Amino acid sequence: MKINYRKYFISLIYLFVLGFSSNAQTKYYVTAPRLFDGEVMHKDWALIIENNKIKTVGPIQQLSVPEGAVKLNYPNATIMPGLIEGHSHLMLYPYNITDWDTQVLKEADAYRTVRATVHAKNTLLAGFTTARDLGTEGAGYADVALKRAINEGVVVGPRLMVAGRAIVSTGSYGPKGYDTDQEIMLGAEPADGNNLIKVVRDQIGKGADFIKIYADYRWGINGEDRPSFTLDELKLINEVTRSSGRVMVCHAKSKEAIRRAVMAGAETIEHGDFIDVELGQLMKAHNVTYMPTIAAVDVISQYRGWKKGITDPPNNVLNKRKSFKEAIASGVSIGLGGDVGVFPHGENALEMELMVEYGLPIMDALKAATSVNARAFHLEDSLGNLKPGFIADVIVVEGDPSKNISDIRKVKFVMKEGVVYLSK
Ligand SMILES: [Zn+2]
Repeated sequence: MKINYRKYFISLIYLFVLGFSSNAQTKYYVTAPRLFDGEVMHKDWALIIENNKIKTVGPIQQLSVPEGAVKLNYPNATIMPGLIEGHSHLMLYPYNITDWDTQVLKEADAYRTVRATVHAKNTLLAGFTTARDLGTEGAGYADVALKRAINEGVVVGPRLMVAGRAIVSTGSYGPKGYDTDQEIMLGAEPADGNNLIKVVRDQIGKGADFIKIYADYRWGINGEDRPSFTLDELKLINEVTRSSGRVMVCHAKSKEAIRRAVMAGAETIEHGDFIDVELGQLMKAHNVTYMPTIAAVDVISQYRGWKKGITDPPNNVLNKRKSFKEAIASGVSIGLGGDVGVFPHGENALEMELMVEYGLPIMDALKAATSVNARAFHLEDSLGNLKPGFIADVIVVEGDPSKNISDIRKVKFVMKEGVVYLSK
């Protein structure tokens, strides 16, 4: 039997981390030929970490090694801030394994949560030290519990910001197509009109860090994406959400839903499949960040039979390519959010690869996963950059992801808040 040394080593690290992290007084001195600080790629810079904070960052020749520091040198690698996933569903796993209806309707929340602990670990070990989770899709507030378990060190995963159940308008969302005599449990919580006030407050009370709204869904007469909530309803949701110090974010694919969501005060637009230059400019003017979820469209098309690189791309892929180019041209801030869960957790980098494939400059893809997402989620004073005083979320990847974006997958080192979770 071949021993998997990597797994063995990782388990040893877990033992160390889970057993001793709270008392760790550790200094690290990390060097590599490249350091991406969240904005700029530097040559021959070093990073000094003390306990759970970044102490110093700068050219190697200007920094001296602190006494007692653990020295880590990576001769052909890039030091980066911990990556930030903008759109995950840790309670879901790929639909080509188990379709969405089955996961939502037939799988117990407890089962889904157990799976989610593994998803969370895979996310962290892929270098994503922070993730925003956009709804449990029928698993109640299991995300709130998962976040707590991660924060308490019970399980390993990224620092989470969670949506809880998310909100849909009556009649719009799935699972659909069942005997209407039965009340089918939905993938999110339905609410309308004045009842939205109560549901928003209830979700906040149960642990939602932000309110996720489905501003449209494919419930048009021919199954096309059509707005679900009126502009006034979205404004009401936003007002109630904001007064708690939280923000509203919107799933919106159609032009009209994007427009309404922006005018009502949404902070991020998810998917935006029909975004154009004009809507991108509107979003930019309102300081809204775009989460393109290219990977979701790309892989769902493949699950439906598209042989990428062999058969012609289906219309939704062609449309996504076109609209993403318009989003780039509009100058709207583009974050990283792949809708991971539709594809495997830990493969989050797929979205970055596709962003580049679809025309985003490679440095902008690196910024999307770090400084842009940090700004979008109001974390820019502590995460998404390698700056003195910031939280020590640091990764090292082999190679140079500013030349080959797929190098982002070659993760050699992961530190979250000063604690090492992977080192090889
Ligand atoms: Zn999603």
